[in-house]
Amino acid sequence: MSLRPASASDLLIDGKLIPGSGGVFDVINPATEEVIGQAADATVDDMDAAIAAARHAFDTTNWSRDATFRAHCLRQLRDALLAHTDELRELTVAEVGCPVFLTHGPQLEGPIRDLGYFADLAESYKWTRDLGEAKPMGIKNTREIRKEAVGVVGAITPWNFPHQINFAKIGPALAAGCTVVLKPAPDTPWCAALVGKVIAEETDFPPGVVNIVTSSDHALGAQLSTDPRVDIVSFTGSTATGKKVMASAAETLKKVFLELGGKSAFIVLDDADLASAVSMAAFAVVTHAGQGCAITTRLVVPREKLAEATALARDSLAGFAAADPTDPGTICGPVISATQRERVESYIELAQTEGGTIEIGGARPADKDKGFFVSPTLISGLDNSSRTAQEEIFGPVLVILGHDGDDDAIRIANDSPYGLSGAVWGTDRDRINRVVDGVRTGTMSINGGIWYSADVPFGGYKQSGIGREMGVAGFEEYLETKAIAEPA
Ligand code: NAD
Repeated sequence: MSLRPASASDLLIDGKLIPGSGGVFDVINPATEEVIGQAADATVDDMDAAIAAARHAFDTTNWSRDATFRAHCLRQLRDALLAHTDELRELTVAEVGCPVFLTHGPQLEGPIRDLGYFADLAESYKWTRDLGEAKPMGIKNTREIRKEAVGVVGAITPWNFPHQINFAKIGPALAAGCTVVLKPAPDTPWCAALVGKVIAEETDFPPGVVNIVTSSDHALGAQLSTDPRVDIVSFTGSTATGKKVMASAAETLKKVFLELGGKSAFIVLDDADLASAVSMAAFAVVTHAGQGCAITTRLVVPREKLAEATALARDSLAGFAAADPTDPGTICGPVISATQRERVESYIELAQTEGGTIEIGGARPADKDKGFFVSPTLISGLDNSSRTAQEEIFGPVLVILGHDGDDDAIRIANDSPYGLSGAVWGTDRDRINRVVDGVRTGTMSINGGIWYSADVPFGGYKQSGIGREMGVAGFEEYLETKAIAEPA
């Protein structure tokens, strides 16, 4: 079977592949600006049907009670997708503009394989816990805790790592026994729709268990967060939209799980190998053109080494020109859209208004007249209180800041509304540990450590989110707890 949509991809609703009631919308290759096809454009009525199908499947089938069958379906999906890896790789690079090297990891193959982790969890998880006997009000009781699926999940996802985020939601949600309506970002509909096609044609998922609704209309995301038939909204996206989701979910008091923005700090201690640390920070910020929520976009170096670090960062970034994402050597591809490029450029302009110096980059690459490319950019001369250092830019833009010792570095890292990730680079173990303890974020990398993995919970402190994705903690987001007692 070929996955490539003939003219348009379809919605997956109640087990059937169907066109969108709103017609189609264009899918654009960010590296070429070409329209590469169309995606089904769902309307409010389509979303209504998808929610109804998910509700019906949860309420009337054995899905939530049959962990063995759920594990089977998830492994079947993983294997079917792996069989399509090459085709998916090509379509993913074309739609997302991500460098092809990343599709061997978190942009495609990693997340597909992670479905196996969630299948294993469905089977190995301890669904019941015996609390033993107790005598509340003098009467002897046996007590037990049972874990149960939350119900219907409304999954709303962004465009930057579409497979990773789609699977990090539908994998644990389905393993937990929930049913799902997935609404991907309008910029990357195919990454989700093609999975819908594989589910419909090559797996045993019962109708209504997974529904995939692509649309050009953001309002369909809002619909998921207000509809009373949805039990939990699992959202990844910007902090601004996350706040709206939380507010609209309040009306029906549904659970919310939010993975939001970040402005993470890369702290270099004065005993670190400065050149290695700075080149790692430069690599991080250009990877996928800086479009990663956990990317360390503030490089915080000892003030006495600021000039040296700035020169090193300039040299490192010069080695990562924005380039064709289909080239296996490319690290920095385009940003997703013209709108996103304008947003990044407006921040580069703002940095200069705030008194910052553009050390390198700051413009579109001279050798590209097509594609939403931004040259890797280094900004110096700003304070951490500047908007450029405080706000998420989501492009290949690094801000370099000086610190006056370990405590000051921790203070700068924490002087942010966000708390998603961070890094520290140094030699002395006690000092490194103090920094790791002091920085209030959901993940920390020491000397280049990579925490990304299916079994590692990921998420934010402060305005970077609520809850954790991946790992057992990510699975448990989709579970309720029922306590049961019986006279002994
Ligand atoms: P976005 O917030 O604009 O959109 C995300 C999703 O929300 C899209 O599917 C969109 O259609 C939908 N949406 C828009 N308005 C909505 C509303 N009112 N109600 C419900 N849904 C709505 O984000 P984006 O531009 O697609 O992605 C970039 C952002 O995502 C960045 O801020 C980035 O940091 C964040 N992000 C966070 C993580 C994480 O795990 N913390 C991961 C990736 C991206």
